[in-house]
Amino acid sequence: MKLYFASGNDHKRKEMSRLLGGYELVLPKDEGIDFDPEETGTSYIENALIKAEALYSIVHAPVLADDSGLSVDALGGKPGIHSARYGEEDGKKLSSEEKYMLLLKNMEGITDRTAHFVSALCLILSPDRKYIVQETCDGSIALSPSGTTGFGYDPVFFIDEAGMISAELPEGEKDRYSHRGKAARLMKLLLDKENGK
Ligand code: IMP
Repeated sequence: MKLYFASGNDHKRKEMSRLLGGYELVLPKDEGIDFDPEETGTSYIENALIKAEALYSIVHAPVLADDSGLSVDALGGKPGIHSARYGEEDGKKLSSEEKYMLLLKNMEGITDRTAHFVSALCLILSPDRKYIVQETCDGSIALSPSGTTGFGYDPVFFIDEAGMISAELPEGEKDRYSHRGKAARLMKLLLDKENGK
């Protein structure tokens, strides 16, 4: 089954393809679709729904969207839904490394380093058949970056359940613990049922 994935992020596609095994994930850019909806929601779920509905209105075929981010307790939940644009408020672009280094800087002297990743997934099968799942991955912000796998904030996120920094886990092992892994496994149950598996 072909499933449109409402994202431009190749890292997310790689993880999601691995997680959904058996479904062909197609990004809008693969088919030359100009897709960059404004994420005006105030929650992960609202933004996942905005992305999924925007893409569904273009392709009229099954669509999956993900909205995710990192919520740090001592920062009142920031960067949260703005994780992808952390530190870019005045229009400048930052690399992933610059973003996680900014996070470490903003946490200097803070001893409560607990945090969690969040992934909201929205699946639209037809105009009135919509499913939403939101999951988390608990951990804490490391004192310095480590590791080379994954993407985004993985080099500074220590996963409690794994007992390791996310970017230190071998490629693919993150799925076992990650917010996206947990949410995607639930979505796969729905997709498999839909496809008579
Ligand atoms: P969005 O869902 O496109 O708004 O982007 C979410 C942002 O949160 C990403 O660009 C990453 O910076 C961060 N993020 C989400 N999931 C992960 C993850 O699994 N590892 C590291 N960073 C993540």
